[in-house]
Amino acid sequence: MYFSILTIFPDFFISPLQEGIVRKAVQENRVKIGVHNIRDFAVDRHRVTDDRPFGGGEGMVMKPEPLAACLRAVRQEKPSGRVILLSPKGTRFTQQEAARLTAYDHLLLVCGRYEGVDERFREKYVDEELSIGDYILTGGELAALVVLDAVCRLLPGVLGCEDSAAKDSFSRGLLKHGQYTRPRTFEGMSVPGVLLSGDHAAIEQFRFLESVKLTMERRPELLTGMNFFPDEEKLLQREGLRSRIDAIASDNREKSDTT
Ligand code: SAM
Repeated sequence: MYFSILTIFPDFFISPLQEGIVRKAVQENRVKIGVHNIRDFAVDRHRVTDDRPFGGGEGMVMKPEPLAACLRAVRQEKPSGRVILLSPKGTRFTQQEAARLTAYDHLLLVCGRYEGVDERFREKYVDEELSIGDYILTGGELAALVVLDAVCRLLPGVLGCEDSAAKDSFSRGLLKHGQYTRPRTFEGMSVPGVLLSGDHAAIEQFRFLESVKLTMERRPELLTGMNFFPDEEKLLQREGLRSRIDAIASDNREKSDTT
């Protein structure tokens, strides 16, 4: 998969792309990442990429011509791909969105700065807008890294253990259970006995129930409409959790009906 990042701050990406799993994915040729400096496509002597907003108001706006020229240059190298503008006004980026984006062979991530990009560039060239959350960053670079990282680790072979991503929080709508490692006792606290039992079925059940309880406590809305396997249903009944999940689901439905 190709990632092309369009930015006025290419140096922003030097260190993050040279660490950990993303670095390994690049080394193993599973992903290719190109960072393109929008400033190189500015036509004037001072390589200006922003200007004052028509109609007045605060801040500066990214000019459409350098953005479009940069995009065209990337497209010349690789014509296919989905153009994504990082924007607080975009669709909320989630694990499901990350999984959806793995279907593309090329993502072009456009990083805004200042007050954002000229609306005409967005209309003509952008396929979709993604927001990484309801807060305002100084630029799209961090958001682009978030998208790249989350998509990259879902690509075949990148994590090494394919199962690992499937068991992550949000993959099936549950938060992941807590994890323990050596030592067996830390500052007076012991690892739950079942994890040392070697009984894999009991460990699976324990972890599943921990996930459900954690999700109920912290993100109950995730449980609405969630489907469980028959053996999981039995466990939920046995532990008295089924009725609590139903109550949470109907509470959530009432809340969404009234909003
Ligand atoms: N004035 C804009 C607004 O209120 O919508 C915010 C502009 S922000 C200071 C500059 C750039 O940072 C945006 O164009 C976008 O590329 C990026 N950005 C800021 N917050 C973001 C978020 N939550 N998700 C994705 N990108 C974001």
